[in-house]
Amino acid sequence: MGRVPTLAPRVAPLKARPLAQPAPPAYGQGRGGRPWRRKRDAVLKRDGYLCKCDECQAQGRLLLAHEVDHVVPLAEGGSDDESNLRAINRDCHAAKSAADAARGRNASGSR
Ligand SMILES: [Zn+2]
Repeated sequence: MGRVPTLAPRVAPLKARPLAQPAPPAYGQGRGGRPWRRKRDAVLKRDGYLCKCDECQAQGRLLLAHEVDHVVPLAEGGSDDESNLRAINRDCHAAKSAADAARGRNASGSR
C-alpha cells in the first residue's frame, strides 16, 4: 500500500461575518416600541421628572426620575395606562423591582 495522497481542499471555510448586526425587531414585545417611549416621556413630564415611589413620597424626598414604574405591576394585573404609571428614580426602581420579585416568590412559594 502506498501513501494515499490526501489533497485536502485548501478552501478555508469562509464564515460570513455580518458587518452590521441587524437589530432585532422590538415591536410586539411591549417595552421597546416607540409608543412606550412616548408614554414614558409623558409620564416623566407629568410627574416633573421627580421620583414618585412610595419611599420618596413618604419621606418627601426629591430624587430625579429616569424611568417609569408600574404602580400595579403588570404581573399583578396592572395596565400600561398612564394612570398606572409613575416616574421613578433608577435606584428606587431597582429596589422596588427586587421587592416585587421577592413578594412574587413568597406568593408562589410556601407560606
Ligand atoms: Zn424614589
